[in-house]
Amino acid sequence: NVSVVLFTSDLRLHDHPALRAAHDGSAALVPLFVRDDAVAAAGFTAPNRMAFLADCLADLDAGLRERGGRLVVRSGDVAAQVCKVVSEADADEVHMAAGVSAYARRREDRLRAALEAEGCRLHVHDTVITALAPGAVTPASSDHFAVFTPYFRHWSQQPLRGAVAAPRTVRVPDGVASEPLPSREGLSGISAGLARGGETEARGRLASWLRSGIASYEDRHDDLPGDATSRFSPHLHFGSLSPVELVHRARGTGGAGAEAFVRQLAWRDFHHQVLAARPDAAVADYRTRHDSWRSETEAREDIAAWKEGRTGYPVVDAAMRQLRHEGWMHNRGRLLTASFLTKTLYVDWRVGARHFLELLVDGDVANNQLNWQWMAGTGTDTRPNRVLNPVLQARRYDPDGEYVRRWVPELEGIAGAAVHEPWKLRGLDRAAYDYPDPVVELPDGLARFKNARGRD
Ligand code: FAD
Repeated sequence: NVSVVLFTSDLRLHDHPALRAAHDGSAALVPLFVRDDAVAAAGFTAPNRMAFLADCLADLDAGLRERGGRLVVRSGDVAAQVCKVVSEADADEVHMAAGVSAYARRREDRLRAALEAEGCRLHVHDTVITALAPGAVTPASSDHFAVFTPYFRHWSQQPLRGAVAAPRTVRVPDGVASEPLPSREGLSGISAGLARGGETEARGRLASWLRSGIASYEDRHDDLPGDATSRFSPHLHFGSLSPVELVHRARGTGGAGAEAFVRQLAWRDFHHQVLAARPDAAVADYRTRHDSWRSETEAREDIAAWKEGRTGYPVVDAAMRQLRHEGWMHNRGRLLTASFLTKTLYVDWRVGARHFLELLVDGDVANNQLNWQWMAGTGTDTRPNRVLNPVLQARRYDPDGEYVRRWVPELEGIAGAAVHEPWKLRGLDRAAYDYPDPVVELPDGLARFKNARGRD
């Protein structure tokens, strides 16, 4: 018998239960990836993510070839393409992992119906997108946790399935053609410093992280210039790393660094379970605060300055330029730039979330929208009116100004922490730097926010 394995957000060979089940239960299998028309139509095709996806597919194909197989890529409507491949391969089963988004659930239903009509069975395996599936832990009175701390307590006590080994060999039946694999070439608008994708890259990074990164994670994860976080987020987004394997491997190393790291992985699960229960939170306020955000027309110049990294607040500008250059931003940068847009400039979180999704290589609806909402105070933050002061944040997380000088070279002549407040320079000293004055004074921004929220 022949199976088809449909890859979606799980572009890997290690810890892939659907692939393993197809391998163990069939004489041959077709590893299939469909470039889904519906995803393209939804506009969820930022160049940075398309480039990373191309790397992941190339690497998956290479890994399958090492095992005697290959990847089959098709494009179009996902249900129609899977049915076509099933008929070409004369397959009797399709294996895939459950998705967690509303779209993924609709896709599953359509696929099941289309395959049943062909006399083919769809096996949907437990999700591999999160470590624990949304709904695996719930509070007594609701279908999801709205606050992270109790969620994490339950999450930590829940047993995790074991990671599954990659198959050693893969036999693909003849006669199933593939389209050429997509490639980075020909894509425009890719960030110059974009990371490479693919499972090989991801596993190399994992090995060095466990060896020399994770132990100091608790102390260094907020160190902006130190860049001491794992940078696994795009690999988790495309599934070139398994969150289950990450939790097991991290726990295996032990210590405070591992604990802090696992806690961040639980944040990822937390946001996914919120979005699964409240799909509207992708666009609507999770908790309405009756904000009267400034209109995009009124705030047009401030929004442009924020996007382009010329707000006059060096740490905000540094982080926004890192985003543009790498398609990735340090978490501390994401927090302080999101606070700056929503609270200091009082611009709707959706404006910022949209811009992030256009550039982030790890851009993902659950983590992006819900982290934006968290910072805007419309989400799950229990202190919705907290405002991060960019100067204090900069002094604390970039004490010597190294991160700012790296990304805002106009200011590289200012030594030490003075780089965080160039407006304090006077006369010719100030004139020497071609760098804008602040778009807003911090007390004015704070007063505007307090007034507007105060009317809640
Ligand atoms: P590490 O610090 O090494 O953490 C390990 C992993 O834990 C990350 O790869 C990530 O999967 C998870 N994680 C860490 N922090 C968070 C968090 N706050 N929420 C959810 N998961 C987390 N993350 C995304 O993956 N996609 C996004 O689109 C995204 N948008 C964000 C937008 C804003 C405004 C904010 C404040 C945060 C956003 N994050 C997003 C969360 C976080 O910033 C990134 O996951 C993290 O910076 C990725 O770097 P890393 O892999 O080195 O993280």
